[in-house]
This record gives sequence, C-alpha cells and structure tokens, in this order.
Amino acid sequence: MFCKECGKEIKDVAVICVSCGSPTDNFAKKEEKKPASNFAVGWGYACAFLLPPGGIILGIYCMAKNRFDHGIMITGLSLFLWATFAAMLGGM
Ligand SMILES: [Zn+2]
Repeated sequence: MFCKECGKEIKDVAVICVSCGSPTDNFAKKEEKKPASNFAVGWGYACAFLLPPGGIILGIYCMAKNRFDHGIMITGLSLFLWATFAAMLGGM
C-alpha cells in the first residue's frame, strides 16, 4: 500500500509509515483489538470452580484476547478441578 501522507510505498502490514511516521490504516485496527475485560477474567475463575467446561472456554477466550496469563491459569484450574470432580464422583 501507499502512505496517505507522503505517498511512499510501504508494507501492507506496516502500522506506521517508515518514511514520515504517520499511522496507516493498520494502526487503527491494532488499537481496536481490546483485551478481554476483567469481567470475563472474573467469570473465568468463577466458572473454573462452578462449571469447569465453561471455565475452559472462558480461559481460551482470555488467552485469545491478550490476557494470556489469566487465560492459562483459568484453563489449567478448570482442567484440574474437572479432573478432581470426576475422580470424586467416580469414587462415590
Ligand atoms: Zn509517509
């Protein structure tokens, strides 16, 4: 693509123009990608205890949404608790 400001050719994936430094269309797209809200993270932890399969889904959602640290914790916790519940139910 070409820079809107100076007209120089730049890479299609460029966020800013290397020649004049003005933001490209990609810059706005990057800004739009918001991370998962604390609300989703909170529900992820709650689901890990109450409904592990839902916790796994929310964990993966958080990982995909720039909250990798919480996402991996939620997914791991959900899998662990799911296995624990399954073992408890199986033992009864
Ligand atoms: Zn430029």
